[in-house]
Formats: sequence, structure tokens, C-alpha cells
Amino acid sequence: MNENEKKLDSETNEPIPPSSGDQNYDANKSELVLGLVAPVGTDLTTFEDLIEAELAKYLYEVNIVKLSKFLESPDWVRVSGQQIDRSSQFLRYETLMTAGNNIRDKKGQSFLAQLGIYAIASDRELDEQGNAMPLKRKVHILHSLKHRKEIEILREVYGEGFFLIGLYSSRNDRIAFLKRKEISETDATSLILRDYDDNERFGQQTSKVFELSDVFINLRSDHQDQAREEIKRFLGLLFGYPFTTPSPDEHAMFLAYAASLRSGSLARQIGAVVATKSGDIVSTGTNDVPRFGGGQYWDGSDDARDFQRRFDANTSIRNGILTELLDRVADADSLLPADQKEQIKSASPEEKLALGKKIFKGTALFGLTEYMRDVHAEMEALLCCVRVGISVKGGTLYCTTFPCHNCAKHIVDAGIERVVYVEAYPKSKAVDLHSDSISIDGNVDKKVSFEPFIGIGPRRYFDLFSMSLGTGREKIRKDDDGNTTKWAESSSIPRLQMKHIAYLDREVRVTEEVQKLLKEP
Ligand SMILES: [Zn+2]
Repeated sequence: MNENEKKLDSETNEPIPPSSGDQNYDANKSELVLGLVAPVGTDLTTFEDLIEAELAKYLYEVNIVKLSKFLESPDWVRVSGQQIDRSSQFLRYETLMTAGNNIRDKKGQSFLAQLGIYAIASDRELDEQGNAMPLKRKVHILHSLKHRKEIEILREVYGEGFFLIGLYSSRNDRIAFLKRKEISETDATSLILRDYDDNERFGQQTSKVFELSDVFINLRSDHQDQAREEIKRFLGLLFGYPFTTPSPDEHAMFLAYAASLRSGSLARQIGAVVATKSGDIVSTGTNDVPRFGGGQYWDGSDDARDFQRRFDANTSIRNGILTELLDRVADADSLLPADQKEQIKSASPEEKLALGKKIFKGTALFGLTEYMRDVHAEMEALLCCVRVGISVKGGTLYCTTFPCHNCAKHIVDAGIERVVYVEAYPKSKAVDLHSDSISIDGNVDKKVSFEPFIGIGPRRYFDLFSMSLGTGREKIRKDDDGNTTKWAESSSIPRLQMKHIAYLDREVRVTEEVQKLLKEP
């Protein structure tokens, strides 16, 4: 937009963005809420500096809400029962994690996010009627989110105006970051493991929150320019820049998620896509039961998937193994006292199973996928290429979840050279078993590179890339004369606006409008 077209606010002399098209909505006041999920050791300050500088171009100010600050305040220390130990950085991290777990246990899993919302609400000014007002051109950044329930409540409260940003930072970078804080490598590793998936009941689960992100940004310490470009591109999309189109990775990952939706599995829905070395997408796959003639079942009269048979074969066989193990223990000579042996032998099948679960829960037995009838998504995408006769050698496999070790070895064998995934899968032994042929630390010669997905996630693909099908404002690329639309950061408004009225208020407004129109001649 050229200078002559900019309208200035009479009070502040700031440029006024174009109308959102909603007469009841003041686009100039639109707020945004960004949540950050990042594994411990991620350099959040660098990210915040980068995004703050970019947001300034949009005339937006940043309000950082650190959830860990609440855990350090005396009021909440009383509730968590955990003093924050500042004698070393390692103990500070450790005690903050414990305090977070205790607070979630006592006050609910979303409580820290609720405190963040409370902090934002407390900053608001009231209008003459005492209603809270939007904070004009403000971006609230909440970090660090650690639990799925925290994301749920933020999405519930802020709707389309909330974006979750997954910050990827390699394990080496995170360990180096923690070492700079005088934390030993052993302690850094233990913090990383605890943060990733805390086994405690109300423990933090960064790995499970990460996959919920709307956008994934790579914070490589040796490539800050790349992170800046990724932030710039995301904000451009967020503020309606109409000429950014998906990257090949974003396009393929969106298709992998689309493929996952066709799964009728009793386990999770997983999707995969194979692209050739030249980038052509040649197959999709999901996890589901195979059928005669090739491929997997669809809805229809011959459908014999697990939900039709009404049970999951894998769980059923695993339960059989549990009972068998218990019987063997009861039969083994001198392993148990006679009365305990008798107790096991005389137990009903249900009692035996309950006892087996109690003893073996958490062991590798519960991670077995061996007896599933489903063909995994990655395998189905490869087998699809076999059915139609396409070589996958040198290609890329995109999958919604990190491949299991069984798929991983077939991926290597098929000649795939790059794997891109979104969701972590801690039970996968792929790297332990195949470190000779698989690398997770970037491109290594003669190894298949397993890489985390970077870019706009499938959740907001429509909202950010579609010209008209997303929930945001329509994107316009040309004027009536065929010239491309002018766009500038300082005069743009968020494409997805956080409307500050609820649906009941909106209904009242529409009703009033209709009544007014009905009265007109
Ligand atoms: Zn698999």
C-alpha cells in the first residue's frame, strides 16, 4: 500500500488498518495470543527477541507471560508446597518442574494456563459500562506450555486468535544451552528426559503438547537467519499476506494428515505420504486393516476392520500373554509361597488379568504392536508404490508420527532417504536398533535422515493458505484491473481475528440488525 492510501488514527497518528468487513468489530483493537511449547533448554529469549522485532513492523506490542513466574511467587509456593531452589540452575529447573506437577495435581491440569489468562485479563481497562476492553494491537506470548489441557483451555477462551508455536531445537543445541547455565551434561540430559514425558500423574508432557502446534519453527543455534525467516513468513500469513504458498513439506504433511483421517483403526489415526526424489507425491497411506486384492478396507459390505469385529486383536493377544506369564510364575517351583501360588491359580480370568496389568503395566509388553491387524501408514504408503510399480529409491516419506522400529527398517530397506515426522513416538526403538542406517541429527552421509516437520501445521493449513475456505477473512490477490494487491505489514490486520464477543452477544447483534431491517420500508 502506498503512503497516500494510509489513513491515520486522529489520536495516535498510527496507520489505521483496513476494515475487517464486520461492522461491529474494530480491527484496530484485535489482539493475538501465542502459546509457546518448547523442550527444556530451548533458547526462548532469542525467539522472543526475533518475534518482537518482526511484530513491531505490524505496529504490535508484545506482552510476555511466563507461566514459571507464578510458580516462584509466594502465594503459589504455598499451594505447590515446593520452594524454588535457586542455589543452582539445575535445582531451579528441577524444583520448578516439581512445583508445576504439584500445582496441576492440586488445582487441575490446565491451572497454569488459567493463571496466564487471569494475568492477561487483569491488565484490561474497563469501558463506561464496566466491560473489559481489548488491549489494542497487543500480542500476548505465553510460555512455556507443558500440558494438553493448557492448550485446550487457551483454544476454548481465545478461539481463532490463539496460535500454538512449537519451537524445535536439536538435542545438542539444548544440552549446549543448559551447559552455558553451568548445568552438567548428565544433569542436562536428566532434565530433558523429565521434561519430555514426566511419568508422574500430573507431570509435564512437552512431547504430547508439541504435536498440537499450529506452526513449527526451527531455532537452530547456527542458523538464526532461518528462524527469523520462518517467523516472518508465519506472521505474513497470520496478517493475510496473499502471496505465500505452502512449501513442499507443508503440502505433503497436510496430505499425510488428510490420509490419516480415513483410518478406522481402534488405535490412533496415522497418515503417511511418499514423495519421489524429484518431489512428486506418489502415494498416501493410513493405518488400517488390509483386504484381499490389495489395499485396505473402506466403508462397505465387505468391511472386516477391527471395529466391525468389535475388539482390538493386539490388546486381546497381549492380555493372553499376561495371563500366560502369571500361570507360568504360579507353576514355577519355589518361586512363590504355596498360598500365593494357589491364590493365582484359583483366580478368575478377570482377576488374573487385573493382577497381570498391575504387575506389568509400563513394561515393553504394553508397547507391543506386533499383533495389530492394521498395516501401518508408512508401510501402506510404501506398499501402494509396490502395487502400482513406482520406485521410491531416494524419496522422502512424510508421516504424522515418528515411525515405529518395524516400519523404520522397511523404510531404510525401500531406499527412502529422508523421513519427516510431526509427533514423537518415544516407544520407537528405530534409532537404537538402526543407528547404522538412520540419523536424527541432521543430514549424515549414507544414513536416512529422520527430521522433525517445520512449517505451518495441518491444523491451520486451510485458515492460513486458503484464499476463501478458511475461517479467516478472504484473501484477495488482484484488483479489478488485474493488478496484484498491495500489502504492507504496518497496515495489515490479523486474518483470523479474536472477536471479543461471545456467540450469544453476536446472536443479539444479528437479531437487532434483522429487526432494524424489517422496520425499513
Ligand atoms: Zn510402524
